[in-house]
Amino acid sequence: MGFDLASARADTPACLDQIFLDSAGSSLPPQPVLDTVIAHLRREAEIGGYRAANEADVDQGYPLFAELLGCEPDEVAFSDSAARAWLSAYDAVPLGPGDRVLVTEVEYAGQAAPMLHTAARVGASVELVPSTPSGEVDVEALRGMLDERVKLVSLVHVPTNGGLVNPVREVADAAHEVGALLFLDACQSTGQVPVSARETGADVISGTGRKWLRGPRGTGFLVVRAAARAKLEPRLIDLHSAEWSDLDQVKLRDDARVFELWECSVAARLGLFAAARYLLDIGVETVAAEVAARAERLRAGLAEIPGVTVRDLGGTRCGIVTFTKEGVSAHQLRDTLRAEGVTVTVSDRSSTRYDMTRRGLHEMVRASPHYFVSDEQIDGAVARVAAG
Ligand SMILES: *Cc1c(COP(=O)(O)O)cnc(C)c1O
Repeated sequence: MGFDLASARADTPACLDQIFLDSAGSSLPPQPVLDTVIAHLRREAEIGGYRAANEADVDQGYPLFAELLGCEPDEVAFSDSAARAWLSAYDAVPLGPGDRVLVTEVEYAGQAAPMLHTAARVGASVELVPSTPSGEVDVEALRGMLDERVKLVSLVHVPTNGGLVNPVREVADAAHEVGALLFLDACQSTGQVPVSARETGADVISGTGRKWLRGPRGTGFLVVRAAARAKLEPRLIDLHSAEWSDLDQVKLRDDARVFELWECSVAARLGLFAAARYLLDIGVETVAAEVAARAERLRAGLAEIPGVTVRDLGGTRCGIVTFTKEGVSAHQLRDTLRAEGVTVTVSDRSSTRYDMTRRGLHEMVRASPHYFVSDEQIDGAVARVAAG
């Protein structure tokens, strides 16, 4: 079945009178997501949060995200952000003196900071795997770095600051040869390109709701494969992740929900589920093709503008487009575009310090068109960048 742009746009009224190019930051939710969140908040106000939760199907998300991410329902957990989801799994990796953690050049600050912080504390090292000339992780170089001391390889599927898509299967296979875990940051991939635990071999996958998935803010998810769970030692335990089974005893859950906490915004979580369902209804492959086509159109248009340099790396590119314009700062250009009804953001060096430092970049404009953006809007954005 073909993609129905008109109905996607009708479900996203706010995309009609503005050019919204920030689905890598925080997208516009489709109407069913907004309706779900508001309806649940209203119900909480009518009968109280506990009864409202009892009426709702709060467990629908486990099979749903298992379908979306290629895993089993008991391998799924929910959280209020990707960062918290990732941290809860990372904190459970038993790291000691002499252990090694490998990261790639597009590592995100949200993971680099905690890894560098805890590695120093326990005497482990964080080491950088180089990239190929086209920007993906260099799997051969990675293989050369692996040994039994490597406990964790952290891979960002799609970086926050560019359109490249990293290979996952080869990295997971290499990591597994030495018994290391592969943590996949799927924040910028889930909702715009296919992500599958089964097909890639990733042990842990973390992601967020508000970006390409078009869910509410304050939502995140985690996949922890059953085999990986056996290697993890969860420490951040509450009355949901563990049962206080006797006066001096606790029993940890034996599924991925051991990484959840009890309290959450039920409305936001139901909205996240609505977003996943909306995506599955359109089809992940369809979305990937539509998003890639818009990003390519945007790159091609930008490349024609004198003084504009498209900065995306990668042999296979997805929906994130980064660029700079001579003589104007990224922040200035973002503000000019915003005043003209074009929403973009800025990628600063501080969020991907390895990558931006090696490329000598301090800031870039980031434009991330979702499938609800029309070709005319892409061309309109290009014209405004040319003028700005
Ligand atoms: C946004 C982002 C995150 C963090 O997601 P939160 O929901 O804000 O915690 C992690 N990694 C990448 C690559 C991101 O772009």
